[in-house]
Amino acid sequence: DTTGGLHNLFEDNLILKDKITKHLQNEEQLRRFNSELEAQVKARTQDLQRANLELNEKNLRLKEMVRRDGLTGLYNHSAMTDLIQQKVNESLRYNHPVSMVLFDLDHFKKVNDSYGHPFGDHVLRTVSKILQDLTRDVDYPSRFGGEEFLLLMPYTEKAGAHMTAERIRQTISELTWQPRGFRLTISAGVTAMDDDTPESLVSRADKNLYRAKKEGRNRVVVS
Ligand code: GH3
Ligand code: MG
Ligand code: MG
Repeated sequence: DTTGGLHNLFEDNLILKDKITKHLQNEEQLRRFNSELEAQVKARTQDLQRANLELNEKNLRLKEMVRRDGLTGLYNHSAMTDLIQQKVNESLRYNHPVSMVLFDLDHFKKVNDSYGHPFGDHVLRTVSKILQDLTRDVDYPSRFGGEEFLLLMPYTEKAGAHMTAERIRQTISELTWQPRGFRLTISAGVTAMDDDTPESLVSRADKNLYRAKKEGRNRVVVS
């Protein structure tokens, strides 16, 4: 009968409405869940990106640390070997000047023997500071050996390197070391790139340094 039929239809309609409501609720829940997930993925990605940046920075700092001498902060022997090679190559290719000064403290053994190794270290740090202060940003001051310093000067003619070496030598000779009140001198060998290999360049600077020592120390020899 008709009444029963209408009643059934009404009931079906209610059930359908209920189903639709539940479906919409589910959909809404899914949407919320999805956007939460997206937010989490985004945050995680940002975390990873930040960690990656930090790692890259640390790697750069580590690489720089490997190039530096622990006591003075100057470039070390290994870094200088690379730098000299690089600057010699550039000089040969582009024909721009490269000069070099090799310094060695005079009678430094006596400083250690008289005042102790820690005071000797203090002297080395002070000399390094002077080397940095009296050179330009484009220069490469380094601790080449125990109490030997190599100053690499790209774009600098021999005469300019000579002047710089002389200024450094004089500045050091005028210092009075407190509280002990003694004087320290430094000798230097200067040379400039002239169809050289890195080895022949360093070797000539070393020979000039040796001559400075032999001729009485506290002086600069150029050739
Ligand atoms: P000269 O160069 O004038 O011929 O005499 P010197 O006494 O300086 O000669 P030499 O090169 O033989 O001695 C170098 C000394 O430098 C020996 C060593 O004890 C000292 N030395 C090397 N490295 C360090 C360091 O890191 N700290 C200190 N305190 N001393 C060092
Ligand atoms: Mg020496
Ligand atoms: Mg010495």
